[in-house]
Amino acid sequence: MSLRQKYQDGMASVDASKVLDIPDLGVIDAYGADHDPLRALVREFESKHGEFTGIVFPAVGFDGVTFPISTARLPQARGRSLQDLLLQVARDPRQVYISLEPSFAFLNSPISQLIDSSGDASNQVCIAQPYVQENIALVLIDALTVAHDAGVDAPNIVLDGVDFWPMGVDSGKMELTCFCHTCTAFLAGYLSRAEMATFRESVNPWSLVLAENDRGTGISYVDEFSSTTTPDGILQIAEQKGFLKDMKLSPARLGEMAGLLLTYTRARHALTIESLGNVIALVASELEVDVASLGCALIAEGSPYNWTGGFFLDLLASDAHGIAEVWVDPSPGVPFLSDVPHRTYMSRRSRYLIDAFFSFRASSVDLRSRSQTGLARFETSMLEDMIRSRFRQAASSVMEGPAAMLGVLSAVSEDEGARANHRGFVMTALSREMADVLTQVDITPELREMGRSD
Ligand SMILES: [Zn+2]
Repeated sequence: MSLRQKYQDGMASVDASKVLDIPDLGVIDAYGADHDPLRALVREFESKHGEFTGIVFPAVGFDGVTFPISTARLPQARGRSLQDLLLQVARDPRQVYISLEPSFAFLNSPISQLIDSSGDASNQVCIAQPYVQENIALVLIDALTVAHDAGVDAPNIVLDGVDFWPMGVDSGKMELTCFCHTCTAFLAGYLSRAEMATFRESVNPWSLVLAENDRGTGISYVDEFSSTTTPDGILQIAEQKGFLKDMKLSPARLGEMAGLLLTYTRARHALTIESLGNVIALVASELEVDVASLGCALIAEGSPYNWTGGFFLDLLASDAHGIAEVWVDPSPGVPFLSDVPHRTYMSRRSRYLIDAFFSFRASSVDLRSRSQTGLARFETSMLEDMIRSRFRQAASSVMEGPAAMLGVLSAVSEDEGARANHRGFVMTALSREMADVLTQVDITPELREMGRSD
């Protein structure tokens, strides 16, 4: 085959399998001047990237559900309604997906919140808890029903799994989630009480592979850590990264720590997958359909172990959980997924930086979130600067252009399994041109007062 023919064929297969992900209904407002903003948005992205065969709509925003939900009486998000949008695409031949990001800060249920290893609660719920799983399932059931009533044919679901278990660092000490009553009870099946206590110490097993980054703005982690890494392998990685010298522990104790790290990550993987499986089974059972017919996709980061997702990518192939495909960013150095059906998510760190922006934007204008997250202490001008900075991070994480997709396709085609399991691409509907609309937030006088009074 000629080189030109090879590229033409590659482009044809890129075009045949692209999904447009609307991460937040706020992005449609960037086309608010058009009489049909949704169509204008899709047209704009198709002009840059070619045709899309699917489109993803979020069932929740960070401030509430995107449609009126009567069963659980959850708050409704500000802005556009999912129902109106679904009615607009009902006769469209594109596959419709309903996505859900399960941080559910709007649930406002202290008992359901994540608890980190030092005992602090976070403004996000724990997906291991049955009550939370039921609420997530209810939102999905109602969203699928809304889609069905709007005339959408067989919508699929997408679970955003990039941040089920957020983590933090306090003066060099790693603090991971979650250690709520449900998680602790589950982990007790894998770790003794004394072993569990090790994770609360200032030097804990996570210190072998996680460290505060040089800028002091977050956590860096080693990408080599996977489900097949041995305790010795972990110590080798930690040695190479220079993490061991700060730990000041005997070789025997370091070996124990490495073993505990493996046990913890495997237990967390099992808990995460069981929790997702429960949600998917609840939805299928209530709607009286097969789990497979939901075509559930899981959005993940392209690391062998997803630290804030809580699962090993390579183990997804062997677990029964109802996840039909994984959407994962094309990180370099990560083995391609040979055994798992997957799509390439064309943003660096997948949805992570994008979600971080929309979550920050929503909590900065919400009185309750602001008081709970410590945002209250910032002056309005500082908050607006932070929103703009997070927007820049999110927008620049998006990998633009068909050439980038062709590069992925070329790498995937080198592995027979990966080639067979590669289902296509996902583009995020986010661009730098949306800055003016998305970084304008409505800071009410009450919120302004909050910034001043502290
Ligand atoms: Zn928990």
